[in-house]
Amino acid sequence: GTMTPSSSRYCVTGISPLTGIWGESTSGGFFPIALKKCGYDAIVVTGEADKPKFIVIDNGKIEINDADSIWGKNTRETITSVRALLNDEKFRVACIGKGGENLVKYAAIINDEGRAAGRCGLGAVMGKKKLKAIAIKGNQPIEYFDKEELRIQGKDTLGKILIPFATNLFAHYGTLIYTDMGMVIGDVPANYFTSTEFIAENLTGRALKEQYVVLKYACSGCAIGCGRKTLFEMDGKEIEVDGPEYETAAAFGPMCGVLNFEPIIKANHMCNLDGVDTISSGVSISF
Ligand code: SF4
Repeated sequence: GTMTPSSSRYCVTGISPLTGIWGESTSGGFFPIALKKCGYDAIVVTGEADKPKFIVIDNGKIEINDADSIWGKNTRETITSVRALLNDEKFRVACIGKGGENLVKYAAIINDEGRAAGRCGLGAVMGKKKLKAIAIKGNQPIEYFDKEELRIQGKDTLGKILIPFATNLFAHYGTLIYTDMGMVIGDVPANYFTSTEFIAENLTGRALKEQYVVLKYACSGCAIGCGRKTLFEMDGKEIEVDGPEYETAAAFGPMCGVLNFEPIIKANHMCNLDGVDTISSGVSISF
């Protein structure tokens, strides 16, 4: 919530149902800044409810509401329904889909329609607690220890992160810029970790732009803007899907022996709707 560039991230932590040890997963978008502006630095959820609930924090005021009517909905439907129930489109929502509800060990938490705290199965932790969603909104002022010094340091940091070659590539092509770069140095596994060589030319950020209408976006307060939304036809309808990000394209792509975008984009979107981690899903399928 400060002027620190590219700092809109939140971190979800808990005991991972996948590993049984400490798990943490981060996500960007607009939810993180909204959390700070609603008046809290952290939310700690203890225990579990006996029936589905969602938490609402509106400018510091906390409510726990029944979520019976939204349990079973996918993540996009959930976000839309929560805003409708609260009669306010300004709420930022993080939620689980069927993955978390059914305690899939790599269930994700989805915020802002396609950003995911995907790793470590923390969506299943929400599901076990019967916590379907957290909706937040606020305009609380941010307290600074030294606002002027932070402004100076933020400006200096911004100057550094906007110049390098890699930052410009992320801005132009998103995280998919790494597909061919990583392949060249043997850092992108293929065919369930049995190879590092594959034809990458149809899986790059440039290829995505050539094949689809791709919209660029940035998380709150970020001048880089590596986020991508792709217009994609699914079930006879044109829809806007988030990404795909490099990790997702790598997991559903070369890891599974797939070298074109269409099945990758579709799998990515289905995972986001059901709230399961795209990386674990792709690797599991490739196995
Ligand atoms: S747009 Fe990309 S670089 Fe900017 S904060 Fe979001 S994830 Fe980070």
